[in-house]
Amino acid sequence: MQISPPIRLRGVALADGSVVDVALEDGLVASVEPASDAPFAPGDEDLRGHLLLAAPADPHTHLDKALSWSAIRPPSGDLPTAIASWVEYIQTIDADEIHGRASRAVAEYLANGTTALRSHVDVPSEGDPTRGVRAVARVRDEFAGLVDIEIVALAGRDIDPARVEAALDAGADLVGGAPHLAADEAADFDRLIGIAERRGVGVDFHADEALRHGGTLRLLAERTAGWTVTRSAGHCVRLSMLESDELDPLLADVAAAGIGVIANPITNLYLQGWDDDVATPRGIAPVNRLRAAGVLTAAGGDNIRDPFNPMGRADAFETAMLLVTAGHVPIDEAWAAVSSDARAVMGLPAAGPEAGLRADLLAVRAGSLADAIATAPADRIVISRGRIVARTETSRWMLPRAHQEENA
Ligand SMILES: [Zn+2]
Repeated sequence: MQISPPIRLRGVALADGSVVDVALEDGLVASVEPASDAPFAPGDEDLRGHLLLAAPADPHTHLDKALSWSAIRPPSGDLPTAIASWVEYIQTIDADEIHGRASRAVAEYLANGTTALRSHVDVPSEGDPTRGVRAVARVRDEFAGLVDIEIVALAGRDIDPARVEAALDAGADLVGGAPHLAADEAADFDRLIGIAERRGVGVDFHADEALRHGGTLRLLAERTAGWTVTRSAGHCVRLSMLESDELDPLLADVAAAGIGVIANPITNLYLQGWDDDVATPRGIAPVNRLRAAGVLTAAGGDNIRDPFNPMGRADAFETAMLLVTAGHVPIDEAWAAVSSDARAVMGLPAAGPEAGLRADLLAVRAGSLADAIATAPADRIVISRGRIVARTETSRWMLPRAHQEENA
């Protein structure tokens, strides 16, 4: 643990409405006490008018693809359309180009308060299998001590396992892939799970990312029940289309197997449903049903301005807002999905404004959690391991109202 000088956050509000002073020391929250009237001292940070939250974490992003939209100008479309645009583009770039975009994306995430990321990185079936992983591992080194970055080797379809092992050797932490895209989903899944088993590493699959087909989540629950390494499944779009008689037993098995599920609302709202131009399905994993079944459930920002999603701002408030409005998730649970539960899915220590927890925190100018998610305030103070690591301050000027009327 990196040693940081003591800081006291003075007069800050917590999500429960209490106003407190929070002392940080050695990267941890040392104490949380009712706000005092004592004069400000060196090391005190005046946070009156701010709300203090656990720093968010993004458990599903694609740093190697991020911020490529304006270079590619891809057509709008579904998942196969996005893949085709991306595959064409990667023939034209090198590791430095990937590194540059990934680095800018991490900086955006950090300025917005996110201090932990899990990035899938392509391990293509042809060409250099480690180019993307090496580029993102470089970014991880550059942000060490500021942002925790986990790398998932996102294996191309029908890949030679030696190529995935090369990606693990080059710095990937977990095995991933998208078996639902392969001609033989079960065979692709078996190949990838075998690599994880051999290497003793965790897995994070792109699972069932289609409205009407995909069985990776079922395979994962059956094949890895009893495993102790981290296992998770992202997207799980198909779950949103299942009737209870099929959904309930599957969720019971997923919960029993200890598999985390990561919903990705912004990308799935964009990529799914192109064949249904009325009563368009939302394509978001059913977060409320997952949580009710006892499945550890988180949410990620997934793609940021690339062929898979032309929008996205690397901001947990955006993901939480979509969970509330498009996923019908209660506000506090939506925030948990992008903060405490996201960290749990990633296997990271808990963070937040509670004594003893890791001092990864986000302070924003907002009166409540609902206000913060609704307005995504630009003004933020980001604390990573007990240190202030980013601060954004905006100014606004408006013509006073009386003058507007005079001039009308
Ligand atoms: Zn993804």
